[in-house]
Amino acid sequence: MAIFAALPAIIWALVVWWFPSWLQPMPLPVPGAVSAALGLVFLIAAFFRQWHWFYWCAWIGGIYATIQLGLQQPLAQKEVSQLYEALPVWLSLSGLLLAFVKKPLLLTARGVLAFVTIGILPLLLLLPAVADVFVLLSPVGILTLPNWKESSFPVGLLLWTLAMGGVWATYLFYKATSAFAWSQWAAWLAMMIFLLVVQHQQASTWAALAAASGLLLALADQMLKLAYIDELTELPQRRALMSQLQHLRKRSAVCMLDVDHFKKFNDRYGHEVGDQVLRLLGSILKSHRGFKAYRYGGEEFTLVFFHSDEAKLKDVLESVRSEVANYPLKLREPSRPKSKSKGKEERGKKDETKTVKVTVSLGATIRKPDDTADSILKRADENLYAAKKAGRNRVLVK
Ligand code: GH3
Ligand code: MG
Ligand code: MG
Repeated sequence: MAIFAALPAIIWALVVWWFPSWLQPMPLPVPGAVSAALGLVFLIAAFFRQWHWFYWCAWIGGIYATIQLGLQQPLAQKEVSQLYEALPVWLSLSGLLLAFVKKPLLLTARGVLAFVTIGILPLLLLLPAVADVFVLLSPVGILTLPNWKESSFPVGLLLWTLAMGGVWATYLFYKATSAFAWSQWAAWLAMMIFLLVVQHQQASTWAALAAASGLLLALADQMLKLAYIDELTELPQRRALMSQLQHLRKRSAVCMLDVDHFKKFNDRYGHEVGDQVLRLLGSILKSHRGFKAYRYGGEEFTLVFFHSDEAKLKDVLESVRSEVANYPLKLREPSRPKSKSKGKEERGKKDETKTVKVTVSLGATIRKPDDTADSILKRADENLYAAKKAGRNRVLVK
């Protein structure tokens, strides 16, 4: 569940709501802690060329700097409350823009400009004239209990946070989205919560830390995916398989699966359709119970079973084979007819899709006591080769 990247923000919200007293005796992290956390995100993101994370660091850093400067400046009481009314509008507008509008690549002139702008723009809110404009739109001013300043609880802001946060979270939930997307939502939420509890002014440091930690978690998740998950099929790849095979249980079995005549298939329907087949295989293999599937490389997959029951093994492999063989792959006709007369003929036919089928061959073997990762893979591969030789679209267990 990618939502785990929002954990720091959620913990922060829970503490603020139910255990605010916990925040008092805790030694406050100095702004240095926020800089360190953001610095760490920068460093890891740059190391792994994940440039889009930089924009969110700039976003958190800019807002945090604005709050800190706002507190340090000898601003009049009125100007401080103006800043706190303007900030939710800025947070919401810029947060949504940053999350949902396509951004330029960072390592271009436009990207650098966007990065600097995102970091610097919130500082403009320190100017009373600019803050005034945002205050006009502020949910703090529009929807509020008459005496919220006395009771110091901005109900309008709470409703706004719940409504916008709810819609955004629902969108992410149904889009089955990445940890990075959740960490963006969480960064926004963490900062909004700070504005809700503005009476603990120093709390901005905790809020920024929660926001930055969410980014760090999402970054760690992304690293893990880059190292172990194959992008096309979303199955773990060879590196993950090799580490699994290093500590294979006593009772286990391994199967190599290879698409039949895939080169011809690619030549005939194009590489993109070929990729679609591999994606489909990934989802079929994921949907089956009883084994763990890996993409070994190219059009080859490895299945690892945690039992050594030959009959059961054959059953499962046979069901995988027949599911693939019977799956009707719907193809759009690759190109429109070139000549006019042929075009007329073809246009008469309504159905422009065509179904094709692919088959796979499977070679499996049960683990022997003295097997190593290499020896068991080699035997499975030999069985796969034998299955191919025997005519393809079949299972061979030996
Ligand atoms: P066989 O039945 O003997 O396995 O024949 P084959 O054509 O499948 O085997 P071969 O090893 O000659 O060709 C494998 C082909 O798989 C070559 C390559 O075009 C294709 N292939 C490998 N990886 C990918 C990929 O990621 N996407 C696509 N579309 N094709 C791939
Ligand atoms: Mg092959
Ligand atoms: Mg093949």
